[in-house]
Amino acid sequence: MDENRPTDPSAYRPGLNKVRKRRWFLWLIILVYLPSMKFALDSPDYKTWVTIVFVTWIVLLVTAVAFACVVRCPRCGECFHTHGPTFLPFRRCLHCALHVNADKRAPEAESPETRITKKKS
Ligand SMILES: [Zn+2]
Repeated sequence: MDENRPTDPSAYRPGLNKVRKRRWFLWLIILVYLPSMKFALDSPDYKTWVTIVFVTWIVLLVTAVAFACVVRCPRCGECFHTHGPTFLPFRRCLHCALHVNADKRAPEAESPETRITKKKS
C-alpha cells in the first residue's frame, strides 16, 4: 500500500502536535472530574455545587470528545480517532496506523497495518 510507505515523520509534526493537544485536553477533562467533585461535595452548599460541577464537566467532556473526533491525521487526512461512528482514542491513526509520536520516535521500517479494516462486500 503506497499510502503506508515510510516517509520523513518530522513532516507530520504540526498535525501530530494538534492531535496530541486534543488528546491531552480530553484526558485532562476526564481526570479533573474526581478532584472537582470532591471539592463540590465538601462545600457547605453541596447540592448546588455538585450540579454546577457535573453540568460543567459534561459540557467540557462533550466538547473535548468532539474536538478529538474531528482532528485529522496529517498523513492520510482521515479522522485520527474516528472510524465510521466509532470513537477510539488509540495512539495510532485508525486508518493508516500513524503513531501519535511518530515525529519523536525513530522511523519505523514498515508501518503496521491498521487493526480496523473495512468490511469486504
Ligand atoms: Zn492516518
